[in-house]
Amino acid sequence: MTLLRISSAQRLADTIVERYDLKPPVDIEAVLSKFAAIHDLVRDIPNIDALLLGLDGDLQEVFLNPARLRQRRRFTMAHELGHILIGWHQAHELLCVADGESDDNEEPDLPVRISGFDVTSQEIRAQELEADAFAARALVPRRFVESIADMEVAEMLGSLEDADVSVPAGMRALSDSLAPGYVFALLDDRNAVMKTWHSGGLRTGVPTISGVVRGELIDKKKALRTLTDTGWAYHYGRRIWWGKAEVDLPVLAVGTDWKPVLNQIIHDVSAGDSVMERSLVQTISGICGSLVNDVDDATLERMAGLLVLRLKRRSELDSFVGHPAFSDFVHSRAITLYEALRRRGPRVYSNLR
Ligand SMILES: [Zn+2]
Repeated sequence: MTLLRISSAQRLADTIVERYDLKPPVDIEAVLSKFAAIHDLVRDIPNIDALLLGLDGDLQEVFLNPARLRQRRRFTMAHELGHILIGWHQAHELLCVADGESDDNEEPDLPVRISGFDVTSQEIRAQELEADAFAARALVPRRFVESIADMEVAEMLGSLEDADVSVPAGMRALSDSLAPGYVFALLDDRNAVMKTWHSGGLRTGVPTISGVVRGELIDKKKALRTLTDTGWAYHYGRRIWWGKAEVDLPVLAVGTDWKPVLNQIIHDVSAGDSVMERSLVQTISGICGSLVNDVDDATLERMAGLLVLRLKRRSELDSFVGHPAFSDFVHSRAITLYEALRRRGPRVYSNLR
């Protein structure tokens, strides 16, 4: 139920944004003070950003680490507000760490992150992630991101500074609320990738972009297999590389009989090599099958766009992608994949955990 709980936490943040008409820079201290007494811890306790007392009672008290920088304190206050407002967070005493604030810590997928057998620590971890998701959405509201979404990327990242949150927190919130297709990479002073974000939230079906690997320089040639535009921008003086993929492709009504088209292309590009022929058929059917599995919901145009991205990403399919009948295949196959998605219906999250 983790993904569902994360999106519930985000929707709750949307409600708070509406109720208090929050706009960047959100005065999070003023909002939190409506729900809790705010104090500083008497001294810096390393590895602790805040202590929250009284979730199980009438009086909530938040003790903030006095040694933390302003943006991190702001994020922590929003995180504690999340604990207070999310109904199922119950504890007498909570010690919180804003680990979403780290520059160099790539966040694995949520289900991976909370795997393990210790139910209690899994639940605590889940609640920390929910409070983080709440905090990001409260400080960088969805409607704010929508108001800057049509800007050039450099201008968009400049406007994001209005939110007054750290680079990781801001980039995460921006990416979560932007339409799918953007990839952002925070670079270190050698231009190696420190951290990446993909827009559109989870399960958009957009494949991982080739050539963008943590600890390595960007391989632009590889990245351009799927991206149509790339560039650089500064965000709080940090260098961010960005790329954008076209995720929607208008589909022509070519019919649904994709098999003869596929066979013809494979016959042409494998030139009688039966091993290559089999391998191409397997690769392509694997890609098509996983596409339906990997998206929660999509339009026909989105299915076509995602199919092209997934096929272009693979260098062994270059001759297939370059064949004159490739777009006929994409259009007819996308129509059938879209029908399969409709038959499947909306994704139920509870089986993911
Ligand atoms: Zn917490």
